[in-house]
Order: sequence, then structure tokens, then C-alpha cells
Amino acid sequence: MRTHYCGAVNEQLQDKQVNLCGWADSRRDHGGVIFIDLRDHEGIVQVVIEPENAAAFAASANVKYEYCLRITGTVRARPAAMVNDKLASGKIEVVASEVEVLNASAPLPFMLNEQPNEEIRLRYRYLDIRRPAMQRIMRMRTRLTQSIRSYLDTRGFQDMETPILTKATPEGARDYLVPSRVNPGQFYALPQSPQLFKQLLMMAGMDRYYQIARCFRDEDLRADRQPEFTQLDIEMAFVRERDVQDLVEGMVRHIFQEVVQIELPQPFVRMTYAEAMRRFGSDKPDLRNPLELIDVAEHVKHVEFKVLSAPASDPAGRVCVLNGKGGAKLSRKQIDDYAPFVAKYGAKGLAWIRVDDLAKGREGLTSPIVKFLDDAALEGIFKATHAETGDLLFFGAGSYQTVSDYMGALRLKVGKDLAITQDTWAPLWVVDFPMFDFDADGGRWVSLHHPFTAPSVDSVEQLKADPGPALSRGYDCVLNGSEIGGGSIRIHRPEMQSAVFDLLGISAEEAQIKFGFLLDALKFGCPPHGGIAFGIDRIAAIMAGTDSIRDVITFPKTASAQCPLTSAPSEVPAKQLQEISVKVSIAEKVAR
Ligand code: ASP
Repeated sequence: MRTHYCGAVNEQLQDKQVNLCGWADSRRDHGGVIFIDLRDHEGIVQVVIEPENAAAFAASANVKYEYCLRITGTVRARPAAMVNDKLASGKIEVVASEVEVLNASAPLPFMLNEQPNEEIRLRYRYLDIRRPAMQRIMRMRTRLTQSIRSYLDTRGFQDMETPILTKATPEGARDYLVPSRVNPGQFYALPQSPQLFKQLLMMAGMDRYYQIARCFRDEDLRADRQPEFTQLDIEMAFVRERDVQDLVEGMVRHIFQEVVQIELPQPFVRMTYAEAMRRFGSDKPDLRNPLELIDVAEHVKHVEFKVLSAPASDPAGRVCVLNGKGGAKLSRKQIDDYAPFVAKYGAKGLAWIRVDDLAKGREGLTSPIVKFLDDAALEGIFKATHAETGDLLFFGAGSYQTVSDYMGALRLKVGKDLAITQDTWAPLWVVDFPMFDFDADGGRWVSLHHPFTAPSVDSVEQLKADPGPALSRGYDCVLNGSEIGGGSIRIHRPEMQSAVFDLLGISAEEAQIKFGFLLDALKFGCPPHGGIAFGIDRIAAIMAGTDSIRDVITFPKTASAQCPLTSAPSEVPAKQLQEISVKVSIAEKVAR
């Protein structure tokens, strides 16, 4: 049917006959001669239909935007004045001998050179993907998975499938449930990750596993979360942290090089969780931003001003300063707008000092709080934060976690507003996470990673005696402020796994019901093992330079977990519900 791609026809094919297929990107009638720009995924070529060829001319007469065509013609050089340097095929054109309309097209809901709103894009996703920008992204994503596969295939990894109809594995989200028709009243869960199966494969002696796996998490709606997403899932037997990290660091560097020709720094920075929180207020710090949080508790412990002195003296508190270098140039309105911004992250207020002229002492400062600070406090703070004329200091004060959260968010915003975030690539490993977090509402410990992550201590007694400060053997891979991967060395002894379940408030009975198969499997000579999972959607989005993972997923859902193309999810006939023994009770139908 076709001999060449439209975008690949060039001067080398001069005088040759070609068969091209594609879509009419435009059709122009130039008084007797018709021009059609024929487009496929490789690009555009200009086709000329001359009136002497009556059949082709007649077939072209009714061609409209996005008609699907097959054209046979001969390649010839364009006259010098007609050369189009913007097109790869701009030096030639194809003189048609035959024009066949393979299919007409109704008027499109949008032109392919515009970007309509998201609802329209998703409803007509097949047209959205026809746009050249989306063609590039989708093809880039294919290269990404190819590159990953070839890297892992040549290093002894087995590409293995794990079930989609399975039992819940807790990764901190709700499960999607699937009723079983043949087992009335019973449900499968769609996998939140293949976590337990990949561990079982290590116990099965598979040694190195990977899978480009679809995962399903019924999470509360948040911008840029998808109910189903793709993960590169990896597991290795007989490894410690560095074995996993070093191997996948090489892979990440390789795929960025191969797919988008970006050289990531070697080696990646490594940082403990504690250091990341202290310096950047985040466990996924964006190191392109040069600003850091500076702790100043020691300089304000003694002041009368309780807002600062109380958390400064509290072991669970934090007082820190973010020096927005050169921030004095921001307008008063811009400065005032930061308070409602940090309030979203739990701040009760946001104190600041603008250093208009350091040499003038107090006279040279503008601030709502400076009257509460004595000279010693001011001097200590200025020294610690390297304050200079023109700077704007923001204060965070309160509980350690809350202050870190909102000052971390503020750091990113101020970095952007002052345009000091560098245009570089900043990957890092964050390590030594706490094993548990205390959930004050539930009054119990929860895993920071997942319940199968090994603690850094080997002894069950030691872990049980003081779980609060225990560290885990988990690690995250962060790039430009996004967590692109996370994993851990796993628990490989049944007693430790049972102890962790116990600490998490999972009774022995419940553990047996939910994870009995894992506890059993751990008894039969389970090797030490560990792994990681990378978010393919996130990595593809970073490579494509887009903020939204929806741009790199073929058929994504909206932020409210719906598919405008197929109208899923949707109601089902009563008969179908009956077959699966499910009754729907909704008091009031939600207005759609
Ligand atoms: N299963 C984990 C996740 O999906 C990754 C891992 O621990 O390998 O986040």
C-alpha cells in the first residue's frame, strides 16, 4: 500500500515513484493547481495535483481537512523560490499520478495545531494523539520502555508477569475490588503493586526480576494522580542497598542518555532523610533550587516572643529561616501572598524580615516581628543566614514536621518567584528513612514505606523496644524534586515480618488471613532480597518536559477518575449485577 513515509520523502528520491498514505493537513487550490500537504507521523510532504491528470484532479477536488488519502506520485525538486526550509521535505514535492480517498473525515472538533481543553482532548484522544506534539511524546515513551528492557535484559533480569486479579497488597491506598461471579460474595483486588509476587519470585530462585507493570490505587483525588499507572518493578536476590541502587542508577543514566540525550551527573548525590528534611523541608528535595532552610532556634530561645521561643525550646519543635536572596525586590503584595500559600501546608502565619539596608541596623529593616527580637537574636539570625542588604528572610516556627512541610513548599515557590532555580538535572538518593510514622489519629504506628521493608536493625527485640527512632532500609530516587523511584531491602525472616505486623497493629490472626502465604514462604530458605519501583509515567513526563503525567499516558482518566472517551465508570444492567451477586445501594443518585 505504501512505499515511504510522508515526512521521509527527500531530494534523494528525486524522479522516483512513491506511494504515500496519510491525512490531508491542508488543501489549497491555486487557480487550477491543487496542493495537498499530506501528513503522517514522520512529517509532512507537499503533493501537487495538476489539472492535466483529470482523474487525480477530480479525486482531489473534494478533499477536506483530515481526509485519509493514498497518493501515488513522482518526486521532483521544488523551484528555488518555493523551497520551504521549515520542512524536512521542503526541497521537493510529489507530483500526483493517482489520488485515492481512503476515507472522508467529518469536521474535527479542533484543529490539530491547537491544544484544546483537557476534557475535549480526552474525549477525542485519538485525534489528540494525531497531533504531532503528542506523536512525539508517545513515540518517545515507546523508546523509553525499549531502552529499559534492553538494559535489564542484558543484565540477567527476567521479564515476568504477575496476576492482575489478586489479593490486596497494602501500599497505603484503597484497593479496586473485582467481584467473583463463580465465588459469590468474594472479591479480588487489583494490584496496588506486584510487591509480594516479586518477593515470592526471589524465594522461587528467579534471582533478578522486572516487569513494566500496571498498578491500581483508589486514592483520593489529587491533581496528577491516576487510578491506574505504570511502574517499572524490579527485584533482586542476594543484594544489599548499594547493589540495587548502583545498578538502577546506571539504568536511569542510560535511559536519559539514550532516549533524550541528557547526561545526568555521576554519581547521584546521596542524602539521609534527616538531612533532606533539615536542609530542604522535603524528602524529595529539588536540588536545582539553591535556597536552604537554616535552623535558628538557638538564637531565639531567650526572646519574649513566644511564637518563636516556645518551639525553639521544644524538642519536637523547629524554628528556621529561609533566606530569599534578593527577595527585597518583591512587592508588598507578593510578600503578603506567601502567608495564605503556607497556610495550605499547615502554617498559622508567616513572619518575615526585609533587609533594606543592613548597615543601618534596625532602621534598615522592614518587618512585622523585628520589634520582638533583641539585638543578640537579630545578630545571630543574620549571621546564620548570611543575610545581606536586599534579602528577605522568612520564619517558620512550630512542630518539626509542620514547619518542614510548609517551609519546604515555600522554598520551592520563592525559588521560582525569584527565578533562581537552575536549569540543570539534579538526581539524588534519599536514604535512612524512619521505619514508622506515628499516626496520632489512629493512635498507632504506620509504615513509612510498606510493611515488607526491612528495618536497619537485625534484632526483633531491639526494634520492638523502641520503634520510634528505628530507621528502615528503604530508599527513594529523586529527580528535580520528583520522586521517580522508591524501594527497599525487604524483610526475609518470618519472625521479623511477624514483629513488624505486630508493631503495625496487625494481629497474628489478621496477618495469617491476609499474608499467611508470605509468612509461609519466608520459612523455606528465603534469600535476602530487595528491589525498587520507578514511575514510568513520571519519568516520561520529565523527559517530555511536561508537568502532567496525563500527557504521556495513552488513554488517561481525568482528575476525577473518569474516562471522557468511553464514559467509564458507568452503571451496569441489573442482570449483570445479579450474576456477580452485587447489590448497589445509593441513597441518592449523585448528580452528574
Ligand atoms: N512496591 C513498592 C511501590 O510500589 C516499590 C518497592 O518497594 O519496590 O512503591
